[in-house]
Parts: sequence; C-alpha cells; structure tokens
Amino acid sequence: MQALKIGSKYFMSKVELNKEAGPREVFCGLTSIVWLHRRMPDAFFLVVGSRTCAHLIQSAAGVMIFAEPRFGTAILEEKDLAGLADAHEELDRVVNDLICRRPEIKTLFLVGSCPSEVIKLDLTTVAEKLNKRFLGKVRFVNYSGSGIETTFTQGEDGALKALIPLMESTNDKKLLLVGTLANNVEDRFKKIFNNIGISNVESFPPRQSTELPKIGKNTKVLLTQPYLSDTVRDLKHRGCEIIYAPFPLGVEGSTKWFLAAADAFKINELKVHEVIAPLANRAMQALEKHTGILRGKKLFLLPESQLEISLARFLHNECGMELIEVGTPYLNKELMGAEINLLPDNTKIVEGQHVEKQLDRVRASNPDLVVCGMGLANPLEAEGISTKWSIEMVFSPIHGIDQAADLAGLFSRPLKRNQILKSETLATF
Ligand code: SF4
Repeated sequence: MQALKIGSKYFMSKVELNKEAGPREVFCGLTSIVWLHRRMPDAFFLVVGSRTCAHLIQSAAGVMIFAEPRFGTAILEEKDLAGLADAHEELDRVVNDLICRRPEIKTLFLVGSCPSEVIKLDLTTVAEKLNKRFLGKVRFVNYSGSGIETTFTQGEDGALKALIPLMESTNDKKLLLVGTLANNVEDRFKKIFNNIGISNVESFPPRQSTELPKIGKNTKVLLTQPYLSDTVRDLKHRGCEIIYAPFPLGVEGSTKWFLAAADAFKINELKVHEVIAPLANRAMQALEKHTGILRGKKLFLLPESQLEISLARFLHNECGMELIEVGTPYLNKELMGAEINLLPDNTKIVEGQHVEKQLDRVRASNPDLVVCGMGLANPLEAEGISTKWSIEMVFSPIHGIDQAADLAGLFSRPLKRNQILKSETLATF
C-alpha cells in the first residue's frame, strides 16, 4: 500500500509502484516543437543541433513542407564539435539571417540538443546577448530538447519554464490552464468554465507568444497535461496555487477536473454537474461503440509520453480494458496522485525503462494492445501484436468530455483493424 501526497493531503492507493533503469527507446524533446509552433504562430524554434536533429524535426513536422516553416536548425558541423568559436559564429549567422528575412517572428526559442550539450554550448548566455542586440524587436529564450536525459513531452515543459520569467506579475484572481491544448478544445473549456461561474480563464502557452498571461498569488493553476513538473515548480515560486486533479481525459477525468477547479473557486459542485450533465450523457453514449471492442482486452503501456497513467485510468474505468502494466518515463507523485488514486487495486506501474526487459514482459503477457513509441511499434506489429503510437496522443485533440469517444476510438481502431485482417487471412485458407 502506498501513501500519496496530493497538495497537502495524503491518500492511500493499492497500486504497485516499481522503478526500472536501463536502455531506453523514446523520442527526444525536439519533437514538442511540432505542437508548440502550431500553438504560437508568432514564435520560431531554432534547434542548435546536428543534421540528425534537423532530419528528426523535419520528418516529425513534415506537414509544414508547403508553408513557411516556423522551425529550423542551426547545423553544428563536425568541425564545430571541436571548436566552440565556430559554433557561435554559425549560430550568429543563422539568427541574423532569420531576423532579417522574417520580421513577423516575435519570440525566438533557441533549442538545445544532444550535440550542443556535448560541446557545452551555453545557450543561456547566447540568448542574453541576442536579447540585448535585438532589444524591442525579438525576444530570445532558450531551453533544452536534448534526448540525453529527457523524453519528448519534456520539451514542452522546458519551453514553458523558459517563458515564465517573461510573465508579468498581477494580483488578479484568475484560473490559468497550463499545457498546450488544441484551440477548439480551449474554446470549449473556457465556455464551460464561464457557465460554471469562472470567467477569468487564461491559457499558458497562449496563442501568441507575446500575449503571456500575468501571474501571481491569486492565480490558480489547473494543468491540462501531466508532464509539466518543472513549469509547475517555477509557477509555485511565483506564488501561483496549483489545483491538484485528475487530467481532463474522458468523462470521469474531465468531470473531476472541472469539480476541482470549482472547489478552488468555492463554487457548488451541483452547478458543475448541471452544466456538464448533458455533455457527459452524450459522451457516454458515444463511447459505447468503442467499449464494445475494448472491454476485457489486455493493455500494456510502455513509457514514453507521461500520459500513460491518465490513459490507463480512462481505458480501464470507462472502456473496461484490463491493465497488464502501466509504464511511465517519470512519476511525479504529487501531480499524478489524484490519477493513481482512481486506478484499480494492484495496478502495476513501472517508472523508467529497461526496454529489453519490458519487451520480454510484453511478449510473456500476450497483450491485445500495446501503447508505445514509433520505434517499437513496427517490430511488435510484425510479431502480430497490435500497437498504438503514444505520440498520437499529443498530436490529437483528446481533452475534454466531448472528446472521450474520439480518444477511445484511437485505441479501438487498431484492434478492429487487426480483427478484420485476421478474419480476411482465415478466409483465404
Ligand atoms: S537532440 Fe539528440 S536525440 Fe534529438 S535528434 Fe538531436 S541528437 Fe537525436
């Protein structure tokens, strides 16, 4: 039995918490540029990295090929790896060229990578110098997207943390939604909060990098994504209050998320139920066609996005799936406590990764579906195991009550496809 601290309260949960270390198979933080540049179209993300980094970001965000991209790479050539002076020169040249060509850029993120960290390129000092040179024109911030120690969603954590010092202070009472949301989902959330009685609601990151919300001791923070530990720490240092809640995935998670916000603003929970009841009823009906496929199926989640615990809670509690193992790259018990408390007894959570041992456990447990990174999906599919890429969860609008059926559909589709393939194969014999 584990004691979990949520805010100032302790809860008991009968989950099994394990840790594992070893070889990892995850995307790096550069990947987060794909959704961050869509969220803030006045920002530019300049990766300071190698050709490998350039290829990764170009293929991950390949859809931008016909548009003027809002990301790029200052390539560190082999000779740069031997001399920092050349790297600084190349970076200066690329930045100058960018600012001349693209006057619409308001914030330029210098994104560190494995190569820039290996040669110890100090991007904080580079950003400070550039801020002085381009004062009043473009703001420079830096963070690391390196894959040496981090996973891909931590890129967003780094980018948001880098923006916090630029946020002005205020004592205004407000609700701050923290974590990137699809614009249409954000609009729906704000409408629901308004109907509940919380009208001063802002989002971080905002839709324009120059419109950063002001924060202070009367700012109540409600997270939309679970992978923002560093951002939360810095928001707390600025006096913000964190509302601890499950994450808004599925009907259950979203309902408890709205209820936690209402509680923080001293709004009666009956008001919340009155507003969301029609949405919840519709969502539960829409879920039925997917639960028919998902119920009783065995699920194995490999660690990659830090969304795994929330997904496991949704797929078990609302879709009836059986949880074999729930992997997560990192476990912040304070942020995840409310989620863990909703998991069924004896759920096996594994923090960290030893990819070979995990794959052995996948094969031994014969799951119906494995949630994993793209690199592991193909080999598992070749062995006849259905998979779902974790990265799809951050590219798809999955938040909120009315997205519950779409979220379930992401998992029921591969199972359905496999069923069809198997029946077609049998029919040919
Ligand atoms: S940052 Fe590191 S892990 Fe990511 S693409 Fe570049 S070299 Fe590879």
